Amino acid sequence: RQQEEPVAAGAPSTGKPAVTPESVINLDHGDPTMFEEFWRGTGSAAEIVIPGWQTMSYFSDVGNVCWFLEPGFDHEVRRLHRLVGNAAVDGYHVLVGTGSTQLFMAALYALSPPAAAGAGAPMSVVSTAPYYSSYPAVTDFLQSGLFRWAGDANSFKGDAYIELVCSPNNPDGTIREAVLSSESGNGIAVHDLAYYWPQYTPITKRADHDIMLFTVSKSTGHAGTRIGWALVKDRDVAKKMTKFIELNTIGVSKDSQLRAAKVLRAVSDAYELPEAREEHRLFDYGRRKMAERWSMLREAAAASGIFSLPDETSGHCNFAKETASTNPAFAWLRCDREDVEDCASFLRGHKILTRSGSQFGADPRYVRVSMLDRDDAYDIFVRRLASLK
Ligand code: PMP
Repeated sequence: RQQEEPVAAGAPSTGKPAVTPESVINLDHGDPTMFEEFWRGTGSAAEIVIPGWQTMSYFSDVGNVCWFLEPGFDHEVRRLHRLVGNAAVDGYHVLVGTGSTQLFMAALYALSPPAAAGAGAPMSVVSTAPYYSSYPAVTDFLQSGLFRWAGDANSFKGDAYIELVCSPNNPDGTIREAVLSSESGNGIAVHDLAYYWPQYTPITKRADHDIMLFTVSKSTGHAGTRIGWALVKDRDVAKKMTKFIELNTIGVSKDSQLRAAKVLRAVSDAYELPEAREEHRLFDYGRRKMAERWSMLREAAAASGIFSLPDETSGHCNFAKETASTNPAFAWLRCDREDVEDCASFLRGHKILTRSGSQFGADPRYVRVSMLDRDDAYDIFVRRLASLK
């Protein structure tokens, strides 16, 4: 082992190690390092300095349902949604979480009747397959008496359930609506709109569901900041979700909220301030980059001849004010070779790590591939893929 470089005090980690043409390329997680290039170019617009005496109190806004919500973060969340037009904010409570993952858990807690813990059966949690692999994992992790994973929404029978609606969907990028009508039973939908941003899909309507989850992990690429937010219509649900976070982590890092607020502000400023520079427009950058990557991937799949991808779709984007294609954050790749029944292990054999379709309640001939890695890793991935026969 080589002698370790001394780490300068306060020097940040860089995440995944750099790659070489021989490296194993890990596209299993949706780690959004693609966006680093953009944020390197924005200068001080997204920087913050926090003096030693600040952000020390547990409390942020004691009059608010979400008492640990930084008002500046609340403001920038509403401002960005108004700019993009992807979600309604008037009449909604904004709640902050340690990633949208914590808010997802808070929603399960808030929407499950407390009686279920005693006499009744736990609340069923469902989502249409292929569904985001964390939904079953997170739902059943602590084996709660309040709720339990019940699988694919399409085959669910029963009238008390929480339906998770992810749109655009992780892993396959489809636009989704709830499949179980809430009028037929006691069903409640939670809309996970992590990817409902212009770099991934045309913004075709202002979403106005009862509970909507978002995250900086996918909107701006700041996954390491661990900040998500929920837009919640009902005050009692908002209060219960806040209670969950209070008992889970006594609030959410203020330092992270301030940073997230500054990042969101930089995004809005680049569209709204007259002196802003065009190259600082995140969604323009993201769309261009994602479209480029999708066209590289389609070429590579065609060159190889053994893979298929979802068809490209497009629509009128109310934000871009033009027709825009969908550029999902993940490729839902199918290996068409008859003798390959497990696409993930086939690709692993070629030093490409992906997540198997089986983890999303789907066929293992499919894999999910992250489209958001750094350029060097992505370039090696498409070159390798094109060479597979
Ligand atoms: N929802 C979906 C659909 C996701 O893909 C992810 C991240 N992979 C999350 C939620 C979690 O995001 P966060 O980093 O905010 O916890």
